[in-house]
Amino acid sequence: MVKRIAIFGSTGSIGKQTLEVIAAHPDKFSAEILTAYTNEKLLIEQALAFNPNIVVIADDKKYHSVKEALAGTDIKVFAGEKSLNEVALMDNYDLMLAAIVGYAGFKPTLNAIGKGKTIALANKETLVVAGDIVMQKAFENKVPIIPVDSEHSAIFQCLVGEGRNKVEKVILTASGGPFLGKKPNFLVNVKRDHALQHPNWSMGAKVTIDSATLMNKGLEMIEAKWLFSLQPEQVQVVIHPQSIIHSMVQFEDGSIKAQMGLPDMKLPIQYAMAFPQRIHSNFPRYDFKKPSTLSFEEPDLRTFRNLALAEEALQRGGNLPCILNAANEIAVFAFLRNKIGFLDITAMVEQTMNKIPFLQHPTLNEYFESDGEARNYAASMIHM
Ligand code: NAD
Ligand code: MG
Repeated sequence: MVKRIAIFGSTGSIGKQTLEVIAAHPDKFSAEILTAYTNEKLLIEQALAFNPNIVVIADDKKYHSVKEALAGTDIKVFAGEKSLNEVALMDNYDLMLAAIVGYAGFKPTLNAIGKGKTIALANKETLVVAGDIVMQKAFENKVPIIPVDSEHSAIFQCLVGEGRNKVEKVILTASGGPFLGKKPNFLVNVKRDHALQHPNWSMGAKVTIDSATLMNKGLEMIEAKWLFSLQPEQVQVVIHPQSIIHSMVQFEDGSIKAQMGLPDMKLPIQYAMAFPQRIHSNFPRYDFKKPSTLSFEEPDLRTFRNLALAEEALQRGGNLPCILNAANEIAVFAFLRNKIGFLDITAMVEQTMNKIPFLQHPTLNEYFESDGEARNYAASMIHM
């Protein structure tokens, strides 16, 4: 049976790699829904190549050019943020590959869960913003949430076959990003183009900056808590610059399982799409005959303070992760536009976390409000 895939965010780094997996396995997967924000050119190209049922361009100013380009086909074209949420509710697909970046991916994913769709989750922000509500809704609708994030895919793979065996902790590996070993006197002068050079992974701009500031690992700690029902103390981060071990699980007998491979996001994408099966791939293999060292070290929390802030949000819970995420999105966006410096990202996140009222048990609406307040406050700190 062919699994019908809805790729939310098909023009991004994860979205494009998802289409590569589909192209390699046309007998197993089809692309039914493709969505993009502003890149209509690539969306049109993808639509013509994969012939989906539906495309959505979130930026409604681009509607006419997409509609015109696809006029000779029977592909339905929708536009606007509202359409993203509506299309997520449709019956014509089986699995949502949630690959929109940031908070924008939250509502469509929540809608898909409400409709009982299996979720392959790349958009970690969805769980950071309102993990309790998302997981509860998934539980109620018996929806599997299969992680695409490489670390969480690794943990998920380590847990297969373990049933109710008790997990002592999970160990998230982090490459350390391009500024591993650097100190604040160096980071204060870092510019966007340097921060966009990741040593091991080629990703979208936001997650690349998050990797350089280590916020990405902080978001992933929160993501891990929700995906695997962990206490904050059960989530540890270790720097592993080679990115060969993608993460580990330590069980109550002290045994540690690791999942390894060359860094290639197509592997966790394909795993999530084909689960519970493993299917063939031609991805390059790790070669143990080539001399190499796998090394591990503690993260430098004094320099990369974003990770400490995310740990605080993980510990205190409530709306604090949502506030952290919103402020970080605004700050990263400003850094990418050369409006603020690299270390200002942390300062903005910290000040916003201190400013916005803390709520221990927010409702969904209160999460939306916290997100909005945090965004406004963070934005007010940027001098245009
Ligand atoms: P990207 O920036 O390359 O792509 C983002 C996609 O989302 C694009 O298709 C874009 O059109 C769409 N989008 C952006 N803003 C939108 C909006 N406001 N409304 C609707 N659509 C919007 O990002 P990416 O690197 O592919 O990352 C996607 C998600 O996956 C992120 O949450 C990221 O943290 C996560 N992730 C990415 C990688 C990676 O290797 N790239 C690895 C692990 C996790
Ligand atoms: Mg990751």
